[in-house]
Amino acid sequence: MAEEPKETKPGFQNPVAGFGVTFKAMFRKRLTEQYPEQKKTTAPRFHGRHQLNRHPDGLEKCVGCELCAWACPADAIYVEGADNTDEERYSPGERYGRVYQINYARCILCGLCIEACPTRALTMTNEFELADSSRANLIYTKEQLLAGLDEGMVETPHSIFPGTTEEDYYRGLVTQAAPGTVRQVAVSRGETAAGEADEAQKAADQEVDA
Ligand code: SF4
Ligand code: SF4
Repeated sequence: MAEEPKETKPGFQNPVAGFGVTFKAMFRKRLTEQYPEQKKTTAPRFHGRHQLNRHPDGLEKCVGCELCAWACPADAIYVEGADNTDEERYSPGERYGRVYQINYARCILCGLCIEACPTRALTMTNEFELADSSRANLIYTKEQLLAGLDEGMVETPHSIFPGTTEEDYYRGLVTQAAPGTVRQVAVSRGETAAGEADEAQKAADQEVDA
């Protein structure tokens, strides 16, 4: 059965009805957000920029397994793993993430990568200000994604806590760097002991100048 045509207002009332909508809106609570002057607090589990986490002594949790890269539907993650050595150690186990990149021109912040990570090395922060005018700047490197150092941590590479194993780290038995832990020379990154000595000398000189 055909629907009855709806009753329409007489033509002269239409403009008045339109202003009625505007008039009502004038007294509603404003929804305008004064961004960026006033930033809205995000939900606690908001999916923002990623972070590569550390163990409590500063060693990295990433083992370079690439599971996050395989889980990513946008092909936004690039990982290259490498072997740790006793002279240059970045994580407690056998392997670490030597190269780690996330391309935020591709990432849709879905969180599948953090679900796939077996070590909770990769999590997401509440930071959402990721816009940039350069594609190159949107590729975040490991150095940008790696968490900063908290109290009790030493920058990598450095040795494993003496007398512990990789499992002890995941059981939470290592709570800070062992006394006397020092940063090792990152030979794989082109550092030399002499170079480090030069840097130390420069820092000392700067202190004297200051
Ligand atoms: S949040 Fe989603 S799109 Fe972004 S890197 Fe992770 S898996 Fe890929
Ligand atoms: S972040 Fe997690 S899943 Fe990705 S390579 Fe590192 S350990 Fe593997």
